[in-house]
Amino acid sequence: MRTDRTFTMLKPDSVEKGNIGAIVDKINAAGFRIVAMKLTHMTSQDAQEFYAVHSERPFYGELVEYMTRGPVVAAILEKDNAVADFRTLIGATNPADAAEGTIRKLYAASMGENAVHGSDSDENAAIEGAFHFSGREMF
Ligand code: UDP
Ligand code: MG
Repeated sequence: MRTDRTFTMLKPDSVEKGNIGAIVDKINAAGFRIVAMKLTHMTSQDAQEFYAVHSERPFYGELVEYMTRGPVVAAILEKDNAVADFRTLIGATNPADAAEGTIRKLYAASMGENAVHGSDSDENAAIEGAFHFSGREMF
């Protein structure tokens, strides 16, 4: 399993607020190479499947509503130690707990609307990247 790629989504709130460019700037400045990137609007079935691990959690319904209310920017990113370094760059799930300068500290409104997704393991990065992109869309 490769350890140099992760998967991200700039969530609907980031797209709505016009924050795509600012967040992509942070990603570039942190040294990630963009392997794949597109705007895509997930269906409810897509979001339910993507977040299936959370299906028993009380926030699952709201999470699916949020993630399907508009398009997201899906991307695969490459860098040494990509999964861990990207989680550091985005900050804690709850922006109130996120470190200064992190993407969630800068751009997230709340725990529910927290601006970005970042894979939590190499295995999930590969699964999530393949969920959104074919091999012909990865460069
Ligand atoms: N989430 C939420 N309430 C919670 C925990 C999570 O609304 O109490 C949402 C939030 O958008 C989060 C997503 O569910 O990003 C996935 O949760 P996870 O625990 O995987 O956090 P992440 O890996 O995104 O930091
Ligand atoms: Mg997670």
